[in-house]
Amino acid sequence: MSLLCAESPHLLNHLESAGIKLLWHPSLSEASSSECLLLMESIIRGATPLDILCLEGSVIQGPDGSGLFHRMAGSDRPMRDWIRGLSQVAAHVVAIGSCAAFGGITAGGGNPAEACGLQYHGEEPGGLLGEKFRDSRQLPVINIAGCPTHPNWVLETLMQLAHDELGIHDLDDLHRPRNYTDYLVHHGCPRNEYYEYKASAEKPSDLGCLMEHLGCIGTQAQADCNLRLWNGEGSCLRGGYACINCTAPDFEEPGHPFLQTPKIAGIPIGLPADMPKAWFVALASLAKAATPDRLKKNAVSSTIKISPAKGKPSS
Ligand code: SF4
Repeated sequence: MSLLCAESPHLLNHLESAGIKLLWHPSLSEASSSECLLLMESIIRGATPLDILCLEGSVIQGPDGSGLFHRMAGSDRPMRDWIRGLSQVAAHVVAIGSCAAFGGITAGGGNPAEACGLQYHGEEPGGLLGEKFRDSRQLPVINIAGCPTHPNWVLETLMQLAHDELGIHDLDDLHRPRNYTDYLVHHGCPRNEYYEYKASAEKPSDLGCLMEHLGCIGTQAQADCNLRLWNGEGSCLRGGYACINCTAPDFEEPGHPFLQTPKIAGIPIGLPADMPKAWFVALASLAKAATPDRLKKNAVSSTIKISPAKGKPSS
């Protein structure tokens, strides 16, 4: 659904300009399920080339490792077996979304469906295809993780693959494209000024930073959501919802309510990954002492109460 929202450029124009012919897509193709089965059989026996296999959704292995919980419509074969067969002949394999990459929400809790990702189960390498799986260009499964993914993360990666411009160094240690994971969700967040002064929101509609009380982990989450906006203008933070790090494995089970910040002795546990804790605590208390009244009051309001002071910069 997120990919169908690609609008600049439009999804189909984008694929066409990259020379990508869409063989089948569950929402866009007119082919019946029997035609789809014929196509998949043709691909597996090598009669139809498949350059890029894209999977959305986790792989269902239950019950008892049989995969029979999820059979391909029109066939008695588990979907898991079709995916494995297609992966062996595709030039590249792409997991779209955190479920296909790591198992995601479907693999949460007791995981009765025995769900996993294509090459990971949570943060453990393995999944359906195994840690050692490599495609025809020696690339692992490309994990475009996110719940959901930004449409342009997908299109950009498909473009790179179509032009043979995506190498192992363009992927991070979880095999996610660095074109979006070289950034933090914190980058470009409109609440940055509140963060600097630790002027914190106390309830979801407040304008302040959501880190101290409302569970935001945008300082640790790798994604460019506040730089590459959604539908041209949005992001979770811009909608007043804390970042829950949905591009990471196991994000679905943080061990506490998503919108609560776990703390020890009043200090949030999840501090920025590359900042020494003592420095953070020292800087935070200094910043709090210097918080301008404007930010203090606006942070706990849903509208701007105090505008920035007018004046010339002092020399
Ligand atoms: S709300 Fe989250 S992403 Fe935004 S400034 Fe605060 S910590 Fe950073």
